[in-house]
Amino acid sequence: MRKEDIKQPQKQTKRPQKQTKRSPRQTRVYELARELGISSKNMIEELRSYGVDVKNHMSTLDPEMVQLVKSEYFDQHGEEETSKSDAEETGMPLRGVEAIEVEEYITVGQLAEQLQMRPTELIKQLMKIGIMASINQAMDYAALENLSEHFGFKPVRKPTLEDTLLADEPDDPEALVPRPPVVTIMGHVDHGKTSLLDAIRDSNIMDTEAGGITQHIGAYHVSLESGSVVSLDTPGHEAFTAMRARGAQVTDVVVLVVAADDGVQPQTIEAINHARAANVPILVAINKIDKSDANLERTKRQLAEHELVPEEWGGQNLFVEISAKEKIGLDALLDMILLEADLLELKGNPNRFARGTVIEAKLDQNRGPVATVLVQNGTLRIGDVFIAGVYDGKVRAMRNDRGEYVKEAGPSIPVEVLGFAGVPEAGDKFYVLADEKDAKAISEQRLAKHRESQLRPQSRITLEELYKQIRDGSIKELNLIIKGDVQGSLEALVETLGNLNTTEVQLNFIHKAVGSITETDVLLASASNAIVIGFNVQPTVGATRAARNDGVEIRMYNVIYNIISEVRAAMEGLLEPEIHEVVLGRAQVRQLFNVPRLGTIAGSYVSSGRMVRDQFLRVIRGNREIYSGQLNSLRRFKENISEVQAGYECGIGMEHFSDFQEDDILECYTHEKVARRLS
Ligand code: GDP
Repeated sequence: MRKEDIKQPQKQTKRPQKQTKRSPRQTRVYELARELGISSKNMIEELRSYGVDVKNHMSTLDPEMVQLVKSEYFDQHGEEETSKSDAEETGMPLRGVEAIEVEEYITVGQLAEQLQMRPTELIKQLMKIGIMASINQAMDYAALENLSEHFGFKPVRKPTLEDTLLADEPDDPEALVPRPPVVTIMGHVDHGKTSLLDAIRDSNIMDTEAGGITQHIGAYHVSLESGSVVSLDTPGHEAFTAMRARGAQVTDVVVLVVAADDGVQPQTIEAINHARAANVPILVAINKIDKSDANLERTKRQLAEHELVPEEWGGQNLFVEISAKEKIGLDALLDMILLEADLLELKGNPNRFARGTVIEAKLDQNRGPVATVLVQNGTLRIGDVFIAGVYDGKVRAMRNDRGEYVKEAGPSIPVEVLGFAGVPEAGDKFYVLADEKDAKAISEQRLAKHRESQLRPQSRITLEELYKQIRDGSIKELNLIIKGDVQGSLEALVETLGNLNTTEVQLNFIHKAVGSITETDVLLASASNAIVIGFNVQPTVGATRAARNDGVEIRMYNVIYNIISEVRAAMEGLLEPEIHEVVLGRAQVRQLFNVPRLGTIAGSYVSSGRMVRDQFLRVIRGNREIYSGQLNSLRRFKENISEVQAGYECGIGMEHFSDFQEDDILECYTHEKVARRLS
């Protein structure tokens, strides 16, 4: 169970640590030791054996912790504060409660009540698995499952409104009809992605009577004699993976454009890996064959090195030679797409409520929120009530990619929809519902959840979590993205790591390349639940920020041996505890002062959290971190103080840094050691 499984409607109970102020409800370690009649030293050892990280006898303990320690202590040492029933002593519930129904969350206190046991028993167990919880903290289903093993109850997930209403009921095979394939064009920059998109679209316009102006709605539909194809308008693997990171997969076939005069380039490889990570078939379009320096053989050979082998060479992949500029081979390309689609047996049922994905959305000054929805199943009609992301709505009008108003749109058809209550996000799933009230209710629930989730970082796989997830059976593969400084070390690393495969877990290298860790790498990691490993390379600023936002783990090393030993340790559950950074607060620099002996002091306003002396501080200017070090001078009205809360002004000085500027953001943070799992 992860710490993040615990929702935190209230401020989380802190692990005891040095605190400057303490509330009257808190107890010092030595006070508790005295109460229990043991030495402070023994008390500290006792606490540490429970996984509590105490510094010394002056450390403070929250009331929950005190209660917990007492009950644990009495359990182990045979003394009792009150007479306890057998059930309590064994930690088993008094009555054999069979099933505990949970909708979304249940608090520790509520669960204790249902199980008729003391909350401290639960808190104690949670602590053993590395979670510091208070009585009011809410546990989700995953956390409950973990507790259930220990306490012998059965958590039953109460179906939510969404579960009931949005469940994807299978279609009657009889009702299914073929639907057009949806393609995304990918490839290296300047290899002709945009030209190809335009060329296909142009050829289509000439063929259709409607002609006229095509509208950019995010996707377009090409009708051919032999069938039709839908192409997403934003080429490139970033857009593709961004959608996937949001849980949406709309692409059926990737068309990989490779310029014959330039061959395989870094983004070609990235595109291949992104498509493979998504399990989407790749059709190769070798472009620019009109150029005199086009080299088809070389291009094919290079692609073969990445396991894209044309049929003529005994491979399985479809290759087409084209010129987007001279419009050569476009029909063949479209035919190949249809061929690939045939193999995929893409089908949809037009006779049901529509469901699809938002592929683009914006706020139009005159029309309000507008979004392009790719209908993936069913038929979308005017007047349909829907939910997409956090917003509900009712279809007021629909336009197709030719700007024509339409009354309905079937499977694989992109349409621009008016009638959203707010602007959804690209990648949001779109569902038509029978009842407007339900759509509103889901929207409200999602908005509430969204607000809560803003408060806690998302968490994805980390090396530390790996072992637990292997043991739970929740992961069988560890996806890795490896970036290194030179090809040689990259190969060596991949080969050595590959030897670590066990029957329980397989290492999967979804992308490996030379170069720094970029935002795209983080995006791929986030879409594929992967960890990014950097060898002798650094992440870009954007990548660091994205990783922080998306909860993606980036690990950087400069010794191969360390990578191997840490991954192995993680696989065996022996990874040493990790130091996590915890942001304490932020302040904004408003005025600069020169103070003799101290240098430049930044007169600042604490906008959130608190500033704490002797902790770490980073200086952020225009979204970039320009320095980080220690906050070694903190003053209010010439008084030296140890911390300043939000809403107050203070003077901040740093060790070895005085180049503050007005409007700099100062972020105060600390390093917190995450206790090793005891179980
Ligand atoms: P993108 O970055 O992949 O979208 O590439 P573009 O479509 O913008 O094309 C990059 C350049 O290559 C442009 O100058 C195009 O005119 C040119 N180009 C694209 N396709 C062809 C082609 O088939 N033949 C030739 N000779 N030039 C092409």
